[in-house]
Amino acid sequence: MGEYILQCPVCKATVPDQYTNECPNGCFGLLQPQYQEKRFVIQKKHAGMFRFTDWLCCHGTVLTDAGPVTYRSENLGPELGLSNLYICFSGYWPERQANLVTCSFKELEALPTMQRRLECTNSILLVASAGNTGRAFAQVSAYSGIPVIITVPSSAVASIWTTKETDNVFLVTVDGDYSDAIAAGNRICEMEGVIPEGGAKNPARRDGMGTAMLDAVSVIGSLPDWYFQAVGSGTGGIAAWEMAQRLIRDGRFGTTLPRLYLSQNIPFIPMVSAYHAGRREIIPDTDMPDAENATGKVSAPVLTNRNPPYSICGGVFDALSATRGKMNAITNDEAKKAGAYFTRHEGIDLDPAAAVCVASLMQAVRAGEADRDETILLHITGGGYQRVREDYHLLPVEPGAHIGKEESVKQVCTQIRQWMDAR
Ligand SMILES: *Cc1c(COP(=O)(O)O)cnc(C)c1O
Ligand SMILES: [Zn+2]
Repeated sequence: MGEYILQCPVCKATVPDQYTNECPNGCFGLLQPQYQEKRFVIQKKHAGMFRFTDWLCCHGTVLTDAGPVTYRSENLGPELGLSNLYICFSGYWPERQANLVTCSFKELEALPTMQRRLECTNSILLVASAGNTGRAFAQVSAYSGIPVIITVPSSAVASIWTTKETDNVFLVTVDGDYSDAIAAGNRICEMEGVIPEGGAKNPARRDGMGTAMLDAVSVIGSLPDWYFQAVGSGTGGIAAWEMAQRLIRDGRFGTTLPRLYLSQNIPFIPMVSAYHAGRREIIPDTDMPDAENATGKVSAPVLTNRNPPYSICGGVFDALSATRGKMNAITNDEAKKAGAYFTRHEGIDLDPAAAVCVASLMQAVRAGEADRDETILLHITGGGYQRVREDYHLLPVEPGAHIGKEESVKQVCTQIRQWMDAR
C-alpha cells in the first residue's frame, strides 16, 4: 500500500494529496511524491504494474495484469552489435505477457491516475489527448466505472476505442489539432465539478510511466546505463529519472543515473532544438517555426506537444542535465525503416512513436555515442495494434459532442452537465 506525501522541488513544502497537482505556494515545479517505503519492493501478490504499488501515487490497487514487460533482446541486440540490449515493451503482446490492450504506455498513466481520482476527489477528470491518452483513459473508465471527459482533435476520433461497452466516457471531438483539443478542454474545466487530469504535473501519471524503469531493474538486476525513449511532452523521460533516483537511494542497484536518450520526429523537434542550443527555454520562433504545419507532417502525432514540461523545475531540461542526457531527431523515413527492421527481428508491430525511438538508438550506436557493451534500455512505448485485433473486438467510443472551428464551448458544457446530472 503506497503511503506518500507530495513535495515541491522548489520551496520543499509538503502537502497531503487532494488530487493536488500544483505547489500551494505557486512555485514553477513538478510536485513529487515522497513515499514512506524507501526500498524497492516488488509485491508478488499483485500482477502487472501494481507489483510496484509502494511507489505508485495512489493508496489502493487496481485488479489488472497490465504492465510494462522487459526482456533481453536476443535478435535486435546482436543484429545491432549490442551485447546488453534490453527492451521494455509497453503495449499488447500476450506471448510476452504484455497486456496493455490499448497498446501504449499511456495505460500505465491512466490506471493509477483513475485510482488516485477515486481516492482524492469527486470531481470528474478532463483529459485532452492526441489519441493514445484518450484511448487509455476510456478503457480504464469502461472497466472501473469511473467517469471521464475526453477531448480529442476530430481527426483522432478513430483512435478512441475500448474493449468493453461503456457510458462512463463523454467524448468531445474538436476541429483543429491537439492544441485546439487542449484549449477546448481548458474551457470545459471551468465547469463546477470538472478538473483537469494534469498531464505531466500529475505525479500519478509520471510514477505510472516510471514503472518501466522499475520493471527493467527487476529484470536486469541493476540500473541500465542508458534509457532510450521518443518524447512529445517528455513526461516518460522525467518519470524514468525520478524512479532511478529512488532506486539509487535504495542502494542495491547502482550509484549512477541512467543517461536519458530522448528523441523527436522531424520536422517538429522543439525540445531537441532547445537542448542542442543548451537552453532551458523553448523559443517558439527558433525551436518550432511554423508549428501548425510541422505538427501535421510527422509520422508520430503523439510526439507533437507544443507546450512540454521542459523548462519547469524537475522537468525535461533538469532530467537531461542531471543524467548527462542526449537527444536526437529522426525523419519519418528513418522511423519507418527502423520500425520495419524492429518488427522483422523482434516480431511485433510498433506505434510510429516507438519506431522513432528504434531509429534513434540505431543512429546513436552508429555515431558511437552508446558503447556496444553498455546496458541499454530501449523503451518501446507502444505496439501490438495488429496483434490486439486478433484477440479483441474493438468498440469505437461514440462522441457525445462536437466543437467546430467557430462554435462556442457553451453548448457542449450544457450537454456535459446533463450527462453528469443523469449519472
Ligand atoms: C505519448 C507517447 C509518447 C511520448 O511520451 P511522453 O513521455 O509523454 O513524451 C511516446 N510513445 C507513445 C506510443 C506515446 O503514446
Ligand atoms: Zn513550492
